[in-house]
Amino acid sequence: MTHNHFIAYFSMEIALEPDIPTYSGGLGVLAGDTIRSAADLKVPLVAFSLLHRKGYFYQHLDPRGNQTEEPVVWAVNDFLTEMEPRVQVIIEGREVLLRAWKYEVKGVSGFVVPVYLVDTDLPENSDWDRRLTDHLYGGDDWYRLCQEIVLGIGGVRLLRALGYRQVNRFHMNEGHAAFLTIELLNEEVEKNGKSVIGQKEIEAVREKCIFTTHTPVPAGHDQFPLELVEKMTDNLQYVMDHQDMFAVDVQQHIFQYKGDFVRMPELAPQGVRLNMTYLALNLSNYVNGVAKKHGEVSRLMFADYPIDAITNGVHAATWTTEPMQVLFDRHIPGWREDNFSLRYVLNIPAAELWDTHQKAKQELLSYVNHQTNAGMDKDVLTLGFARRVATYKRADLLFSDLERLRRLAREVGPLQLIYAGKAHPRDTHGKDLIRRIFQAGQALSPDIKVAYLANYDTWLGRLLTGGVDVWLNTPQPPNEASGTSGMKAAMNGVPSLSSLDGWWLEGCIENFTGWSIGSPVVHGTERHDCAEDADCLYTKLEKIIVPRYYQDREGFLQAMYGAIAINGSFFNTQRMVQQYVVKAYL
Ligand SMILES: *Cc1c(COP(=O)(O)O)cnc(C)c1O
Repeated sequence: MTHNHFIAYFSMEIALEPDIPTYSGGLGVLAGDTIRSAADLKVPLVAFSLLHRKGYFYQHLDPRGNQTEEPVVWAVNDFLTEMEPRVQVIIEGREVLLRAWKYEVKGVSGFVVPVYLVDTDLPENSDWDRRLTDHLYGGDDWYRLCQEIVLGIGGVRLLRALGYRQVNRFHMNEGHAAFLTIELLNEEVEKNGKSVIGQKEIEAVREKCIFTTHTPVPAGHDQFPLELVEKMTDNLQYVMDHQDMFAVDVQQHIFQYKGDFVRMPELAPQGVRLNMTYLALNLSNYVNGVAKKHGEVSRLMFADYPIDAITNGVHAATWTTEPMQVLFDRHIPGWREDNFSLRYVLNIPAAELWDTHQKAKQELLSYVNHQTNAGMDKDVLTLGFARRVATYKRADLLFSDLERLRRLAREVGPLQLIYAGKAHPRDTHGKDLIRRIFQAGQALSPDIKVAYLANYDTWLGRLLTGGVDVWLNTPQPPNEASGTSGMKAAMNGVPSLSSLDGWWLEGCIENFTGWSIGSPVVHGTERHDCAEDADCLYTKLEKIIVPRYYQDREGFLQAMYGAIAINGSFFNTQRMVQQYVVKAYL
C-alpha cells in the first residue's frame, strides 16, 4: 500500500488528547495543535512520535506543596490501533524490534492526519529495550540517546514500512528528531549504490529537511558525549566508517571536535559531543525559530545559518471553552474553518461576551473550590498562572513583596490567584518554587486566596486559560522562545499581563490586548532586573488593571475584545501552518 502524504512531521512529544499522556508541555502542545490545523487545512501530513507508555508523570501535591510523581497508567488499546509492520534499529549491537500504533486526527471537514507512535515493548526485545518507549524525558543521557535513535532512525524505517514512499519533506520539531537525517543519508547512499556519503547525498537530504528550533538558551540543546554515540555506530555506519571522506563542513558541525571551541563554546563544553541542533541545522534547507524575537536570538546563537521565524499559534477550536464556542458559533459562523474571522467578535454585544466569560469562570471556580476548598468568589478579579515550573518563568514574581500585594487587594480591589504546573522530577529548584507558592498562599490568607491545582494538563490548561480574568506570564527575557498559554487565553477573551518576551513582543498592544511587564531586552543583555519587573507588575495592577476591572468595565472589555479580535485571529496554528506550507513545505 502507498499513501499520498508528502510531509512527515517528527516530534518527541505530541499532545493528542488530555487522556493520552504523550507530552510534557509547550513543545507537545504545539505539535498537537500543528497536526490538528494541518488536518483542518487538508495538508497531506503524517506524524511520528514515541508511545510513552508511562507518560510524562502524574503529579501529586501534599498540603505543603511537596510534589511526588507517579507513572500515568493509560490503556493504549483504547485510543490507538496497532500496525502490522515491524522494523529494526541497532542499539549497542542488539537488534531492537519496533512497531507503530496509529492515532487519527480528524480535521473540520473530516480529512485525516495519521499519527504513529513508535513502541519497543515487544516480547522479542530485551527487558531493557522494551522500556525504551516508556518515559518521556525520564532517564539519563543514554536512555535519551536510545529514544532519539528509535524516533529518528526507527521512525523513518517505520514510515517506509507503512507504505509512505512519496514523502519529500521531513519536519523536525526540535533537535530530538535529528537522527532522521542519518537514516535519510543511509537511504541516499543505498539508492546511489555507493558505500560512502558524498556531497550529492548530503544535498539530497538537505533538500528534504526542515528544522524548527525551540529554545533560546544554549543549555537547552540536546547533546551527547561522542563515546555514547559511538556505542551505536551501527546506525551511523556510513558516517562513522568513512569519516575522512565525509564532507568537511558537515562533519565538523555534526561532531564538534576539541579544536572547534571558538565556534560555539557553550554548546560543546567537553569538546567531543554530538550536538543534535547542529546535526539538524546542517542537514536542513529551511530552519526557523518560533517567534520573531526567537528568530533573532537563534541567528545570534547560530550565526552561520540562515534562520527564519514563524510565530507559534494555538488550535482555535481546541482551546476555546465550551461557552465561548457556543458564542462564536452563534455570531461568527465558519470561525473553525477560518480563524481570521475571529475579528468579527467586535460585532458581538458586550453583555454577551461578558456573560459568556462569566460562565467559563464559574466552571473554573467550581473546580478550584471542589479541589482545594479555596472558597473562590466569582465577583473577584482572578489571575491565572500555569506552566512547566522552570526557574526562568519566575512563578513567584508576583510574591516579591507580599505586603504590597496585600495592600493592593485591601485598598484597590480584591484579588484571587490560581496556579498550576509540574516540575520535572529531578528539578529541585522547580520543586522548591512550588513549595514557595504554597507558603506565599498561606501568608496571604485570608486577604488573598491562592490555589495551586495539581497535575496541570491540557484539560486543566483550557479550563484555566478560559476561566480566569487575566493571564499572568512572567518569564525572564530572553528565555521564552514563544510561549503559547497566553494565546489560549486570548482565544477566550482573556487579556495577558506578561513580560515582553517571546510571542508577547508581537501580541501586546497596551490596553487593547493586555498589558506588558518591564521593557524588552536588548540583544546579548541576559541580565534583567527582577525587582524592576516586580515593581512594574504591581504598578500595572494597582493603577490600571484592578481599577479597570472594578470601576471601568467598558475599559476592561476593550482588552477582552482585543484579545480575541487582534490576537485570537492571528496567533492560531491555522495561520502558522499556512506559513509553514508557503515558506517550508512547498
Ligand atoms: C499550553 C500548555 C503549555 C505551554 O504553555 P506556555 O505558555 O508555552 O508555557 C504547557 N503545558 C500545558 C498543559 C499546556 O496546556
